[in-house]
Amino acid sequence: MSGKVYLVGAGPGATDLLTLRAASLLGRADVVFYDALVAPQTLALAAHAAKIAVGKRSGRYSTAQKFINKRLVDAARKHAVVVRLKGGDPMLFGRAQEEIEALTAAGIEFEVVPGVTAACAASAELGVSLTRRGIARTVSFVTTRAADGEPENDWATSVIAADTAIIYMGAGLAETICATLVARGQAGGTPVAVVENATLPAKRIVLGRLCELARIAREIGSGPAVIILGEVLRQALETQASMTVSPEVTDAGAQRSL
Ligand code: SAH
Repeated sequence: MSGKVYLVGAGPGATDLLTLRAASLLGRADVVFYDALVAPQTLALAAHAAKIAVGKRSGRYSTAQKFINKRLVDAARKHAVVVRLKGGDPMLFGRAQEEIEALTAAGIEFEVVPGVTAACAASAELGVSLTRRGIARTVSFVTTRAADGEPENDWATSVIAADTAIIYMGAGLAETICATLVARGQAGGTPVAVVENATLPAKRIVLGRLCELARIAREIGSGPAVIILGEVLRQALETQASMTVSPEVTDAGAQRSL
């Protein structure tokens, strides 16, 4: 008889943004396999569980993922409650499907527990609706990355087609993102925001324009960050610009700290 594997969203960072279901499962868990972005306070809710870090090293993806799949299957054969804890929502840019397929193939029961994804956390930090009425009716969740062997990722088309776009895992590629979008016809004046460590004490928000994206990305640190593009940000950008016209402010693209 096998146990059950729960693919649980840990949310963007703040522990009190976990769902009640996630918190209760962590309390009941025998084993927790967790990703690099899960906060220590969140992990601490799994008081009785063996806690196993399974963060992947970049460049070693496929071996690592197969190994994680196998460990989940093995754990479910020994334990009743196995939690696979992933940052944000498990079903967005979280490799959940590979794990679901491995569990299904091994005949192991699973359940997905959604979490607050980084795009929603960043929107909350900015105080800007991603679907502001009259301005945005489409939102695109995008990553510029594609694993080896995956079909080419035409992320730029999705960014340009959507009223609001959120780019995950893109802060380190800001220069390429900006150059690609501008070459494809996106206006360099499009408002952008980079939100780092949303919902965590170390959060940082920098607003600006697409043509300034490389400089903006250099201003933030090495924490997880999303890039948001779209007209929904224009009011926040203009408010910031009017607030920074004061003698002591020297940097026109000033950072907004909320
Ligand atoms: N499943 C996760 C995404 C995993 S990919 C989710 O739904 O949010 C990892 C990327 O998520 C990071 O590179 C970053 O772009 C984004 N991210 C995760 N946590 C974040 C946070 N607290 N603030 C800003 N971006 C975050």
